[in-house]
Amino acid sequence: MFTCKKVNFTFWRAKILISRKLAQMKTSQIILSDILLWLKSLAALFIKRECICCKRELLASENSICMFCTEDLPLTYCWINASSPADRTFWGRTKIERVIPLIIYSGVYKSLLYSIKYHGNVRMAIRLGRLLGSHLLCLDIDLVIPVPLHPRKKRQRGYNQSELIAKGITDRLKAVNKNIRVENKLLMRKNFTLTQTQKDRADRWQNVKNAFCINAKCASSLKAKVIRNSRNTTECFHFLLVDDVLTTGATLDACASLLLAEFNCRVSIATLAYIP
Ligand SMILES: [Zn+2]
Repeated sequence: MFTCKKVNFTFWRAKILISRKLAQMKTSQIILSDILLWLKSLAALFIKRECICCKRELLASENSICMFCTEDLPLTYCWINASSPADRTFWGRTKIERVIPLIIYSGVYKSLLYSIKYHGNVRMAIRLGRLLGSHLLCLDIDLVIPVPLHPRKKRQRGYNQSELIAKGITDRLKAVNKNIRVENKLLMRKNFTLTQTQKDRADRWQNVKNAFCINAKCASSLKAKVIRNSRNTTECFHFLLVDDVLTTGATLDACASLLLAEFNCRVSIATLAYIP
């Protein structure tokens, strides 16, 4: 009885996902997609894949998280309100245009961020970046700048998760600005700092103070391009700083302060998660 219920339940989930995909695709894409789906189903007989968040077994058409966890993402909706709690993090400190995190860092969704940061879940970083980007279309961003890692830490990890999120965001923002791109050489991290996760508020501020600097060569090249490629609006450009998690805002504050001092610009912030 239980097995029968489980099979019906799995069949129902597969049916919903397939019908959604079919609605989005052209005929040629459907044939290719069908083949890939069958191959994945075959592989699923031998390799058990589970949802990062709830540990439910994944269907062949699901990647990393199941459709239930995708539907229940604890979105912040900070893009709706210009005076959201995330915006207020920086009030009285640094002049930030908008602060937009995608989800609240809570419950089972902590695993999602953990898999991106420590388990090399590159596809999930880009996928969530795209979702975040779809809420940033109205900001009129000119350049996307990921918070840098120290080169040594990037070598150890193999990637900078903020660069991946920035790539996803930029993919979406190209719909409104075809010249938009990720600039990952402008900001540099000078100090090889220990992870911020276990530190308290005072330690975080001390840890990131003076941890970053501007790449002078890149900055002058950018200023030259800004003058040539201006969209004939103003010379004041709008930068989007990107990080994985917003906590005290110490890291983002340090980066934004450098940009505001170097350029005639506005700075907004986007992160995947927010710890209120
Ligand atoms: Zn799940």
